[in-house]
Amino acid sequence: HAAVSASPRVRPRLLVSRLYQPSNLRDVGQESRLAGQMTCKSQRLMQQAGLIHPSNPGCYYYLPAAVRSMEKLIKVIDQEMHEIGGQKLDMPSLCSADLWKASERWDLMGKELFRLKDRHRADYCLGPTHEEAVTTLVAHQTTLSYKQLPLLLYQITRKFRDEPKPRFGLLRGREFYMKDMYSFDVSEEAANQTYESVCEAYSRLFARLSLRCVQVQADTGNIGGTLSHEFQLPADIGEDHLLLCGSCSFSANAETLSSGRTDCPQCNTGSLVESKGIEVGHTFYLGKKYSHIFKATFSSAQNKPATAEMGCYGLGVTRILAAAIEVMSTEEEIRWPGLIAPYQVCVLPPKKGSRVDKAAVFAEELVQTLGEAVPHLRGEVVLDDRTHMTIGKRLKDANKLGYPYVIVVGQVALEENPKIEVVCQQTGETMFLSKDGLLDLLGRVE
Ligand code: ATP
Ligand code: MG
Ligand code: MG
Ligand code: MG
Repeated sequence: HAAVSASPRVRPRLLVSRLYQPSNLRDVGQESRLAGQMTCKSQRLMQQAGLIHPSNPGCYYYLPAAVRSMEKLIKVIDQEMHEIGGQKLDMPSLCSADLWKASERWDLMGKELFRLKDRHRADYCLGPTHEEAVTTLVAHQTTLSYKQLPLLLYQITRKFRDEPKPRFGLLRGREFYMKDMYSFDVSEEAANQTYESVCEAYSRLFARLSLRCVQVQADTGNIGGTLSHEFQLPADIGEDHLLLCGSCSFSANAETLSSGRTDCPQCNTGSLVESKGIEVGHTFYLGKKYSHIFKATFSSAQNKPATAEMGCYGLGVTRILAAAIEVMSTEEEIRWPGLIAPYQVCVLPPKKGSRVDKAAVFAEELVQTLGEAVPHLRGEVVLDDRTHMTIGKRLKDANKLGYPYVIVVGQVALEENPKIEVVCQQTGETMFLSKDGLLDLLGRVE
């Protein structure tokens, strides 16, 4: 690579030619094997772009770009959970059956639970959720005082569920990442406040990701409890049926109403409109169901032992990733919430040729300048060094991957008043900017 060695000071490390983003579809044998499983846009786009690779049903390799995106998503989730007082921990995935038998969910969960035995023939399961585990943990602290509540503990870990129909890529896996939070409060009233604050945090999270999300009344399922909401992204591929009132704020998962109902149970005047949704989050008020069984108590203001009021709150981390791609992308090109795009900028130097070496050096220097002058772009700028390909072809690739900003360095970049071409994915706009103008533009990215 002549241009790189000509300029020893400039060592861009993020070269497209070196990024591990294998496109699965190049392998024809595999393509036909996967054909039956390729069921939705996000799955197809994510496999084509080398973000994920299927291993066995409902299980995927998360490839480097997907991991980058997920780490960014986790960072945003962490910020919102810390904002409401959440503390992060990490619980074992290998869970003893004893706990699950105590809550009677060992039988209730049926075939969805991945069960196994250890060498002593003791029963275990791979955690699909952690109410039992976290409540036992909190119950172990004999000195827990009302002054320490509310206590909000959460983790972001792999969950295991033997889904009857794993499909749609990361939307419904058998092994997937979930953020699960559990709250412990002194009273029902305090627990309701905590519940509200988590719902608000979820709404903020989806707003920051520019995802339109509706909070609907939901069934409590086998988790138990009384109050429950789902956070749903409206999408045709969604497996949930939502009923939204045209006149008031009422919205519910259709599972919660008697079937066929078309009038709104809240305002009685509006009619219910059905739409499909992808469940990306779920909140439950649990009351004392688990704290009673596992004796999670605290000492009250009167210095008496009292049973904690609980809530639990899930977010499908890998599902959000795929769902965002599902609702934002076109059939051909991935679009990301800006905050979680794997890389923020891709710089395209011109096709290799005698008159353009200067432009290639300019492009490499630009990568370095961006990383130095715009702190949040450090490690976020990729150079598409496949200069044997035309700019047009590489631009098409970059648009497919959906970098929020694509910078094209052509001949005009070398003129007396250099102009740099910038394609902004969020708006679809193409601009011609000076170097300063470009730094200004990118410096303002959140
Ligand atoms: P679903 O109705 O889609 O099966 P669920 O109601 O069983 O989901 P919860 O127990 O509420 O799921 O889990 C919390 C969150 O975990 C869900 O809101 C969803 O975002 C995510 N999730 C659940 N199952 C899966 C899965 N198989 N693959 C990916 N994410 C999942
Ligand atoms: Mg389920
Ligand atoms: Mg559900
Ligand atoms: Mg649910």
